[in-house]
Amino acid sequence: MSAWIPEEGLRFECTACGACCTGPPGYVSYTKQEGAALAERFGLSETEFEERYTHETPAGRSLKEVETEHGFDCVFLDRETVPGKAVCSVYEERPLQCRTFPWWPEHLRSERAWNGLERECEGVHRGDFVPIEEIRINAGKQKSRDGSVNR
Ligand code: SF4
Repeated sequence: MSAWIPEEGLRFECTACGACCTGPPGYVSYTKQEGAALAERFGLSETEFEERYTHETPAGRSLKEVETEHGFDCVFLDRETVPGKAVCSVYEERPLQCRTFPWWPEHLRSERAWNGLERECEGVHRGDFVPIEEIRINAGKQKSRDGSVNR
C-alpha cells in the first residue's frame, strides 16, 4: 500500500481525549517483548500478566477491554488521574500499535482517509506539522508489526 503524505508533513497533536483507546470492541495486539515489559512493570510473571490483562482474539492475544459509558476502554486507559482527560497508564510500555497511532498505513492511504480520521481523532489537523520522515518511520514500523504480534 503506497502512502499519501505531503512533503511538508501532516499536522497532529494528541489532546489525550482517549477516543483512540475506546469505542467499539477492538484489538490491542502486543509482541512477546512488549508483554514481558508490561508484566515486569506490574511485577507479574508473563503468564500472570496474560491471565489478568489480556485475552485471546481472532487477531491473536490482545489487551483486555472494559465496557464503560464511553465504549470499550483499553484496560489501561485511566480516566481518573487527570480531570477531563483519558491517559494511558502504561504509557512508557505501551505497545507499538499505540505508539505508531495515527500513522497507520490505512490512515495514510489517501488525503481523504487522513481527513476522515478527524472524525475519530481530534488531534488530526491540530498543532504543528509532524515531519514526513517521522511519519514514514512510524508507518513503516506499524506495517512490519503485523509479523511479530503475539499470536
Ligand atoms: S483520539 Fe487522537 S487526540 Fe484523542 S487520545 Fe487518541 S491520538 Fe490523542
